Amino acid sequence: MAVVGIVPAAGSGERLGAPGPKAFVVCAGRPLIEWSLDVLAVACDRVVVAVPPGYEDGRDRVVGGRHRSESVGAALRAAPEATVAVVHDAARPLLTIELVERCVAEVRAGWEGAVAAAPMTDTVKEAAPDGRVLRTLDRATLWAIQTPQVFAADALRRALDVPEAVLAAATDDASLVEAAGGAVRVVEAPPENIKITWPGDLRAVESVLRARAAV
Ligand code: C5P
Repeated sequence: MAVVGIVPAAGSGERLGAPGPKAFVVCAGRPLIEWSLDVLAVACDRVVVAVPPGYEDGRDRVVGGRHRSESVGAALRAAPEATVAVVHDAARPLLTIELVERCVAEVRAGWEGAVAAAPMTDTVKEAAPDGRVLRTLDRATLWAIQTPQVFAADALRRALDVPEAVLAAATDDASLVEAAGGAVRVVEAPPENIKITWPGDLRAVESVLRARAAV
């Protein structure tokens, strides 16, 4: 059973306001992506990274696509031996080996997908474009979905074999696997598995990484 890490890192990260791609922004002294790659190198047999054009030097680097799912597809095509795919965004550098292993264990147990998730702590409402609240959702059943997202690799390959417009609209890989009929479950993640989107997120992650280095 080959467990392959798939890291989509080809995004521009405009919201971060950085001069270059988000995955390569310096975070606590090294490129952001390297924090995740350290963990995936332990938890996976091999790791393939989808990078922006110009960053493809090095082993297991492929040029990403126009959007996230295309980048995941490009990396997965470079790993035909994969039986389990661990998809993880470079933008979540506080990944732990334990979280990857818990998700992999669920896929080994028979789920097509197992995704890191946080139980919703805010109340969630659906609103119209003018701000009018349409309804309040039942928080007890809601989860905020993160990465890692671990899949039986063939289920992910089938899920990605859809028209480009469907890939472009997907905000995660699990939704594609679900749409293809795959059984996906949530796996509760530690609260610090946050995603870097805004400059303040970068500072919060840096303080956690520095605190970890100090112990
Ligand atoms: O923009 P967002 O933070 O949702 O992107 C999630 C992940 O997808 C990031 O790690 C980003 O680098 C990656 N991505 C990609 N190829 C794209 C767009 C985003 O690999 N064309």
